[in-house]
Amino acid sequence: RSKDAGGGVFHAYEPQLHMAAEERRVLEIALRSAVENNEMHLTYQPVVDAESCTLTGFEALLRWTHPEYGNISPAKFVPLAEEARLIAPIGEWVLRTACEEAARWDLPARIAVNVSAEQLHNPAFAGFVAQALAHSGLPPQRLELEVTESVFMHEGTMAIQVLEKILDMGVRLSLDDFGTGYSSLGYLSRTRFSSIKIDRSFVQGASKGVKEAIAIIRAVVALAESLGMATTAEGVETEEEHQMVQRLGCTKVQGYYFGRPLPVEEARRLVTRHDGESAAA
Ligand code: C2E
Ligand code: MG
Ligand code: MG
Ligand code: MG
Repeated sequence: RSKDAGGGVFHAYEPQLHMAAEERRVLEIALRSAVENNEMHLTYQPVVDAESCTLTGFEALLRWTHPEYGNISPAKFVPLAEEARLIAPIGEWVLRTACEEAARWDLPARIAVNVSAEQLHNPAFAGFVAQALAHSGLPPQRLELEVTESVFMHEGTMAIQVLEKILDMGVRLSLDDFGTGYSSLGYLSRTRFSSIKIDRSFVQGASKGVKEAIAIIRAVVALAESLGMATTAEGVETEEEHQMVQRLGCTKVQGYYFGRPLPVEEARRLVTRHDGESAAA
């Protein structure tokens, strides 16, 4: 080892690079059996109407607890699963589980499920959606799929065709993390999105008075309105941020200020009518 050290700067960084690669390798192997070992579960974050603050639905957010490594953030393992081509089976489990759990809720709250671009490049994906709906009995109108701009980055029309099939079932579509990817406004008008989700970075910026962030939210809200779409402000953490995005015209809000991602039982309690009729049957 000392032979090829060369005294250069690379030697100093080598152990770290090695660690990162090793960690990725270990996590990728663990990911392969995570679903079958019951290490995954879903949490549900409330989405509320910006004006009335009433609950309109939830976003399902995936959680992974490994028996040895503990909780691993989706920000870390989702990209890894995408690269390792493991996102399809994991995503199918997410879709099936979210539909089954939401179908048992007492009120017709909407359920949003994140879908990676990779999943949409599989022509069979529309069939999985239909199956998840049929098996759970969840009405298609209650399901919303969240996709990011990356769906439109790749060549070809496979993803668009798959999205069209899903839309024709009555499932809604929202555009996640808007403004953070490569934007071509053309696809926005060509695809029937129900809502645009404005990334937390703009929400934060706007409440701090950053002019560009305010201008971008204004423009997105105007664009969404003219296309008949709703706008959801993501990552609202404070009352000030809520007031700011409401003033700017966002129709829905989501963030720690209104509720953290909740275990399914707690989400269920939020949508249970307290009129004596238990939904727990
Ligand atoms: P996302 O879809 O944009 O989800 C919103 C993220 O923001 C979630 O992080 C949520 O917990 C977090 N968040 C919500 N409110 C606040 C807030 O007020 N402040 C802050 N700082 N953060 C807030 P999470 O759960 O760690 O998920 C990260 C990303 O991982 C998601 O971003 C999504 O892209 C991906 N992801 C999560 N679950 C799934 C899944 O089932 N399938 C796929 N393909 N991706 C998923
Ligand atoms: Mg999302
Ligand atoms: Mg988002
Ligand atoms: Mg985000």
